[in-house]
Amino acid sequence: MTTPAYARTAERLRDVKPSPIRAVFDRAHELEAAGEKIVHFEIGRPDFDTPAGIKQATAAALDAGAVHYGPNAGTPELRKAIADYLADRDGVRYAPDGGIVVTIGANEAVFLSIMAYCGPGDEVIIPVPAWAHYAECTRLAGAVPVPLPLDPDNGYALDAEALAAACTPRTRMIIVCTPNNPTGTIADRATLERVAEVVSGTDALVLADEIYAELVYDGAGRVSPAALPALADRTLTVGGLAKSHAMDGWRLGWLAGPPDLVRPALRIRQFTTVCPTTFLQAGAVHALRDSADECAAMRAEFAERRRIALDLLAGQDVLRAAPAAGAFYLYLRYPETYEPADKLVWRLLEEQHVAVVPGTAFAPADTHAFRVSYACDADDLRLGLTRIIDAFQES
Ligand code: PLP
Repeated sequence: MTTPAYARTAERLRDVKPSPIRAVFDRAHELEAAGEKIVHFEIGRPDFDTPAGIKQATAAALDAGAVHYGPNAGTPELRKAIADYLADRDGVRYAPDGGIVVTIGANEAVFLSIMAYCGPGDEVIIPVPAWAHYAECTRLAGAVPVPLPLDPDNGYALDAEALAAACTPRTRMIIVCTPNNPTGTIADRATLERVAEVVSGTDALVLADEIYAELVYDGAGRVSPAALPALADRTLTVGGLAKSHAMDGWRLGWLAGPPDLVRPALRIRQFTTVCPTTFLQAGAVHALRDSADECAAMRAEFAERRRIALDLLAGQDVLRAAPAAGAFYLYLRYPETYEPADKLVWRLLEEQHVAVVPGTAFAPADTHAFRVSYACDADDLRLGLTRIIDAFQES
């Protein structure tokens, strides 16, 4: 059936692909609705409930009448709480008034940043494997995503020489996601210093996505890109509560940076989402000021699941895991003698009832890789991974 003329979409949607993660997720839910038990490794969503104190603070705000429009940038209390939290966590000082916008999840912070700074003719360098939203937001903005493949044998570390080679006069932005989704790799200070050297002679901004900053294991050191003086002036930092505080459905995050860089993003917000939900922001203040113990308990549980997963994988020799020091994913590669992941994931879902995401969702060339999220129950983790390992041994 041909599309009628009235249903023709805007040109900017032409190359924007539907989310592959959602495709797996939707089919997994169809199977569940038909009565199957599915192991969910596909979605980066903590299985914990939001800590009770956060809910109580939110309910109190709702009762107290926090039901009206708030400031475009978010409530002053939450902006101050975010600034204090980031100063404490990363040693970076942001101005609560001007340097911080509370966003509808980290997603909106990424979107606003790319929309504010990238347009036709501009390039955004995306080290891959990477979360798919960077490329699709770049396309929505009419700019060109430039994937920069990272070497699995080098732990998917950001390679400054390759980055320098990928930079052109059109490079407008470089994405640095640390810890990374899907590899879990953390950019160390030396790497970030080399990135700073590369960008110093260019007009490129750095978009630092730190949504997984709280989820770091084995004492791995993490440095915020904006903490480097050479990067501070040109870095927009993205963060949020979804992963660290089990608040993914609350849709709350932030964009932080020098006020002159943040202001254009806020202008888009004024004409789009206007402001985050007012009473939820009271809960977020509690999350940032008073939930460190609950966050530490969740982090300890993720660390334990990571250990369970790595132990199980150590007992086989087909699947190779990236050395994941952070986030809650394992990015698994396997030999090309097996079927490509674009087919494999559907077979795993239909036959083994395990939902994973194919590597091509993160890097076009990663045909024989997939991502497992261990943000799920430990028994499910054992069950699902055992089924995957068995499926490889049988094929
Ligand atoms: N950045 C990365 C790297 C992610 O993996 C995700 C979610 O999976 C987000 C941002 C979005 O987070 P939020 O749910 O706060 O929009």
